[in-house]
Amino acid sequence: FRLSLATGVLPLDTPKFEEIWHRCIDEMLNNAKDHSDGESRIVYGEELLHSLERHDVIEKRLLECCESDNFELRFMPIFNAKTLQIDGAECLIRCPALFDIKAGPDEFIPVAEKSNLISKLDMWVISTAIKTYKELADIHQYKGTLSINISAMELYNRNFADNIRKVLERYQVPPSNIIIEITETSYVKSSKLTVQTIESIRSLGLKVSLDDFGTGYTAFNQLLHYPVDELKIDKSFIDNIAHDKADRKMVESMVNLGHSCDTLVVGEGVESLEQYHHLRKANCDLIQGYFFSQPLTYIEFIEFVRDHNPQTILDQQALLEPSTNERVVVLNHK
Ligand code: C2E
Ligand code: CA
Ligand code: CA
Repeated sequence: FRLSLATGVLPLDTPKFEEIWHRCIDEMLNNAKDHSDGESRIVYGEELLHSLERHDVIEKRLLECCESDNFELRFMPIFNAKTLQIDGAECLIRCPALFDIKAGPDEFIPVAEKSNLISKLDMWVISTAIKTYKELADIHQYKGTLSINISAMELYNRNFADNIRKVLERYQVPPSNIIIEITETSYVKSSKLTVQTIESIRSLGLKVSLDDFGTGYTAFNQLLHYPVDELKIDKSFIDNIAHDKADRKMVESMVNLGHSCDTLVVGEGVESLEQYHHLRKANCDLIQGYFFSQPLTYIEFIEFVRDHNPQTILDQQALLEPSTNERVVVLNHK
């Protein structure tokens, strides 16, 4: 157990005090959750009001964007860890109307979840991603996968799998190359309904991936109870993999656990050659991160796939691990 304490101080003479004090309590709860360093902190009125105001601005703009479908997708390449061939891409949402206040999905997705906009937003992403997949496959002969993030709240939505089925039928896309990524928060319990939703998604032929694996304290439990095809080791473990032996051991255990449950294992947030080297050594199947590519626009992604040459990075990596790489090079030439 870890206890974090955050205290908000709101002057009694604040305008509309009655209306906003309970919202300030929510804000403090989130604040305490965001900082799990054990330090207790105090936040004063002005700052509290500022973050409530920001929340309202984001909510208002999101509502308008949901009505006008004013969102964009970026594509982050995912690579086979051994060969560095492009295996797929993860779709990441962007909201241009929030660029000026620098609110990214980390900030606006929780707002969308709170204000019941998330279903609309998730369906926009699913339709746009599947439509894009169709174009990539038909026009650009793309053969990789496309991963789509959804809010864990969808697991409580009884119509969710059926809504996806309609989109697949509309665009006539074979489902096996579409991966649905779910981050299970501590609020979403493994229940009959949530497991059923995952099973319905898989029975459509789609793959399911458990995102941010290792961060939730129920992570290992989830893997046993949720039938998933892939798990994504959270970036926080990869960050220190090159320097921290404990994190390295943890990553190795997660890879082995995934393999023993017949799931593919992805390492995400790879920012250096050393991190890549350790993930390879740990037998990780797939990798992604800024070291290989940032999230790209559709056009940039097509160019990236066209021009991608794994050999340059494999050559650098070979200096760290000569014997294994020689084997890979031979396989590639065949
Ligand atoms: P996530 O699913 O864990 O996505 C990975 C996030 O980490 C992305 O941020 C990506 O740009 C970033 N990232 C990947 N590699 C690296 C790296 O090497 N270094 C660093 N510093 N960052 C890296 P982004 O796009 O801001 O997304 C943040 C989160 O927002 C996502 O985390 C996901 O939980 C959520 N999200 C993004 N797109 C969607 C979406 O379409 N629908 C839903 N429901 N949630 C989404
Ligand atoms: Ca993800
Ligand atoms: Ca993640």
